[in-house]
Amino acid sequence: MLKAQNIYKSFGGVKAVAGCSFGVKPNLITALIGPNGAGKSTVFNLISGIIKPDTGKIIFNEKDITKKSPEAISNLGMSRLFQKSRLFNNLTVKENLLLAIDNEDTKFWKNLIGKNKTAKEKEGRVKEILKLVEMENFENYTSRDLSFGQKRLVELARAILNPHTFLMLDEPVAGVNPKLREVIAKILLELKRKGETILLIEHDMRFTFSVADWVVVMQEGRVLVEGAPADIKNNPKVLQAYLGE
Ligand code: ADP
Ligand code: MG
Repeated sequence: MLKAQNIYKSFGGVKAVAGCSFGVKPNLITALIGPNGAGKSTVFNLISGIIKPDTGKIIFNEKDITKKSPEAISNLGMSRLFQKSRLFNNLTVKENLLLAIDNEDTKFWKNLIGKNKTAKEKEGRVKEILKLVEMENFENYTSRDLSFGQKRLVELARAILNPHTFLMLDEPVAGVNPKLREVIAKILLELKRKGETILLIEHDMRFTFSVADWVVVMQEGRVLVEGAPADIKNNPKVLQAYLGE
């Protein structure tokens, strides 16, 4: 579904991504792991078009998206959860999610085919998604009154609301308590069951190995090793990479 082919990206003298290649298979959960500074978030920014690689190619559903804008890439069916929160703190959960739907409605191709949703449809969609992330009782809470983990769930809901077939999540459980981690793991497995393809950056090994079908380990801007969770778990190279942190 997605292929990163020998991508490079430097910031000044820092080689953030240096010859990174890997693939993501459809209908599976793939995890991108590796020590801090390995280049994982940069790879996400490159895939979603926020920054452009110096060299290398990114292929999504057989299309070369290397030079496309973030909007064009999003319109091809890619949605994303950012590492840092992007909720409006002074708006309610529902308002934040309605805003996300409205954003999506401004996409010109939707207006073109007259597919804008009615207010009632939008509210229905928000309720449905809040149920999926087990936040249905928090619809009218102001975002600033939520715990960190609850905010993450709302952001996850927002990423899911964005029409997509491919979902990218940057550290969905960082700073989230064990109970909510389990909720998020359950949501991801449910999304997979529904046929979604997920690429996940995660630092928490236990979480990663409990949800991922395939694990890609990055170190110093490139792929160190990839494989099934059981093989990665016991790989001495991977242990070594994390010990150096
Ligand atoms: P990870 O997500 O694996 O922790 P990042 O992709 O965030 O790693 O960062 C990889 C390297 O690139 C780090 O050394 C980081 O400091 C550097 N880097 C990332 N983004 C920028 C940027 N916009 N400007 C300068 N350096 C950056
Ligand atoms: Mg990161």
